Amino acid sequence: MTNPFRYDGEVAPGEVRHLRYEVGETYLGDPIEIPVTVLNGERDGPTVGLTAALHGDELNGVKVIQEVADRYDPDDIHGTVVCCHVLNVPGYLAQTRDIPIYDQDLNRAFPGKPRSNTAERMADRIYRTFVEKCDLLLDFHTSTRNRTTMFHTRADTTNERVDRLARAFGANVVISGPGDVGSLRRTATENGIPAVTVEMGKAHRFQPTLIERALDGVASVFAEFGVDPTATVGWPGWFRVVPADQGDKTWLRADTGGLVEMRWGPYPLVREGETICTITDHFKHSEKVVEAPFTGILVGVLENPVAQPGHPLCHLVRIDETTRDEIQAEIDRGEFDGYRQRGLRWRGERSELD
Ligand SMILES: [Zn+2]
Repeated sequence: MTNPFRYDGEVAPGEVRHLRYEVGETYLGDPIEIPVTVLNGERDGPTVGLTAALHGDELNGVKVIQEVADRYDPDDIHGTVVCCHVLNVPGYLAQTRDIPIYDQDLNRAFPGKPRSNTAERMADRIYRTFVEKCDLLLDFHTSTRNRTTMFHTRADTTNERVDRLARAFGANVVISGPGDVGSLRRTATENGIPAVTVEMGKAHRFQPTLIERALDGVASVFAEFGVDPTATVGWPGWFRVVPADQGDKTWLRADTGGLVEMRWGPYPLVREGETICTITDHFKHSEKVVEAPFTGILVGVLENPVAQPGHPLCHLVRIDETTRDEIQAEIDRGEFDGYRQRGLRWRGERSELD
């Protein structure tokens, strides 16, 4: 028999509790409350934290967590699952990334302070009440607006326990590094709670294909750590850890202003010298061709087609020959998982209606 999950109240073993937890107050004097589901299993096991909408307009993870909170039953799980559905409630209500008015990034405010700015106060309540009680953490994000990102994770894989979590989640690509100071992932990891950030798709959308993949990842983590003994650990087919700081990944940026047309595709695999996009002026008098500086996969891509010098166009991650051949073979077999269902429409809006 496991222990109750204690916050200001407690959730008994075998119980599921949907609660709203106050982390601040609006200027009307109303409470700012985050919705949280705690599933406390009948039997012993780790406490797994799932968090979403730390950036208020990044929604795919909100759907992932809604599904997890609904699908699992405390009778069946070993341990506790703490589902923080929406962390940045002010940003979520305004559909902005940051906390509105002073534009504070909640994901740079951890572990927070009880007597500092709004973001740090919220971070403090969230961290002490929920995150500190977890043994593992998955934090769900998307690309920022006007861009999209491939399904991947970010994790400090030099930490063995984090590496195990990232592998269990099973995204093909892990960008490895400690993360930003004040981010939830870095703070939790440094305090002994292995944490992985999941990056998936676009802001302001639900993207079912990505959401399904993330749910598979959660199920695989539950299997690996014994939360759900009936599940099996997934294997993504191919796997690549990319160090965040060693030239293996780069944001290609516009050097001229103009209109951007993406030319890559249908799969986000580009070879050295291949055209990724063009930038033309409005009169089409000049065209700047942006080529891949090395063979790699496009992890993030601009969606808004107007650019000025310095704007990011795409995020390219280098892959070696073996990985490239594996991906190519999967493409040839029609089994390129994660893209197969998006296929030609990966960049389009229609894929979200599938
Ligand atoms: Zn984010």
